[in-house]
Amino acid sequence: MSLPGWADRFDGDRAIRDIVRLCALGPRPSGSPAAGQQRRVVAEHFRSSGGAVSIQGFRGEHPLTGEPVPMANVVASWRPGASDRLLVAAHGDTRPVADRERDPARRLLPFLGANDGGSGVAALMELARHVSDLPGALGVDLAVFDAEELVFDEVGDYCLGSREFARRHRRAFDSGGPSYEAAVVLDMVAGRSMQLNREGFGLEYAAWLTEELWEVARDRGASRFSEDCGHYVEDDHLPLLAIGVPSVALVDIEFPEWHTVGDTPEACDPRAIEEVGRVVMGWLGRVAGEGPGR
Ligand SMILES: [Zn+2]
Repeated sequence: MSLPGWADRFDGDRAIRDIVRLCALGPRPSGSPAAGQQRRVVAEHFRSSGGAVSIQGFRGEHPLTGEPVPMANVVASWRPGASDRLLVAAHGDTRPVADRERDPARRLLPFLGANDGGSGVAALMELARHVSDLPGALGVDLAVFDAEELVFDEVGDYCLGSREFARRHRRAFDSGGPSYEAAVVLDMVAGRSMQLNREGFGLEYAAWLTEELWEVARDRGASRFSEDCGHYVEDDHLPLLAIGVPSVALVDIEFPEWHTVGDTPEACDPRAIEEVGRVVMGWLGRVAGEGPGR
């Protein structure tokens, strides 16, 4: 059984308002006060939407200075007792400087990360408003990963938060904890000219999951989902794939304002994030209807 019209409840205008609200905190690189403020906003939102929230704190290292950087993932669980689970995740940190600006002087500027950082988190916030109504017995977790890109040009490691999350999940699973049937990572899902290609790693290591998502997209007439095979993108799905969780990244790597000061709410389109959100909800609804261990 799935809830008719449930996926259409994902509201792109409301998601854009969340992007604006997050960007009002300023740039949100890992370890910044604004990143901490965002974490509190998101955790409170998840809680008020019925999620059981846990904060996974850990310590990273600043790639330029070697100083310790406090980091934390925010994880919210619906039906926390269910052993079969689905995960939707996004990174919440914004890259520290706009290193794809053409003018070298501008490459040192911080930027808002409305699409790269903001849109994934806003999509999770909008999902959180509806996930309590998902029928069936599957558990759902929404996770905001820290430190996907505390990286300066090429200096620094990617995906620290998702690696920490994967390490903890693996340890819990090995001692009898829950398992993820599948995970979807959202990254840059609101760009005005968004096109989502089938990302290389997901296609190679979780082909059936890629196909499930694209099938929902086709059924919904979601035209921003392209049949093209895209690049291989190093994103937060890789640490999950590495521990055996089938994972796909929906990522618009051709975003024109990528890692520039132009990555503002004005570069985002409510219809784009809405399309992605509704496909993800359509997929959740379909999987939930089939039940655990399908
Ligand atoms: Zn980025």
